[in-house]
Amino acid sequence: MIEPLDNLVNALCQLPTIGKKTALRLALHLLERPQEELDMLSQCIASIKSSIVVCKRCFNYGTTDLCDVCSSTARDTSVICVVEKPQDVLVFERTGIFRGLYHVMGGVLSPINGITADKLRIEELRARLAGGEVRELVLGLGASAEAETTCLYLARVFSGMKLKITLLARGVPAGTELEYIDQITLNQALHERVEISYKVES
Ligand SMILES: [Zn+2]
Repeated sequence: MIEPLDNLVNALCQLPTIGKKTALRLALHLLERPQEELDMLSQCIASIKSSIVVCKRCFNYGTTDLCDVCSSTARDTSVICVVEKPQDVLVFERTGIFRGLYHVMGGVLSPINGITADKLRIEELRARLAGGEVRELVLGLGASAEAETTCLYLARVFSGMKLKITLLARGVPAGTELEYIDQITLNQALHERVEISYKVES
């Protein structure tokens, strides 16, 4: 293959879900587009890291210190939905039915991969809950084994607080990452979320 095309194909191959064949198809497609369109695309890619910041309150992506959700006055500040990654915020936002705030954990517990509790944003969440305004914590972490372990861990950590802790209903198929769940299923899982508690029976 001619070198510039080969370079582009190799660069595109670094992207998730893009194999060599798809990369070549994309590269040839780009070759046929007008120069302005390519300049625009390059510009978007080149500036993505400097133009997007992590929200200092919930760790969602935004363009200012506080993300759109945190800076909105139309949100219910008494509910926080805990999610694994910023993409999951988009998944919940697409449903349009969740009106609370978020807290992006930055992962789920996976000791085998070195993700222990201290690597997650648990202390930051604790600080937010300490204000006393939050009445419900929705654990929206998906249904992988690691996500479930994380939910149980969080339920235990925050069990002493005056707080309702809820889990998404079982509509979410086991092992599924949140971003692959269809909207109807997620709507239902949100609507039918169930409370979990860690109270020791005496
Ligand atoms: Zn935020």
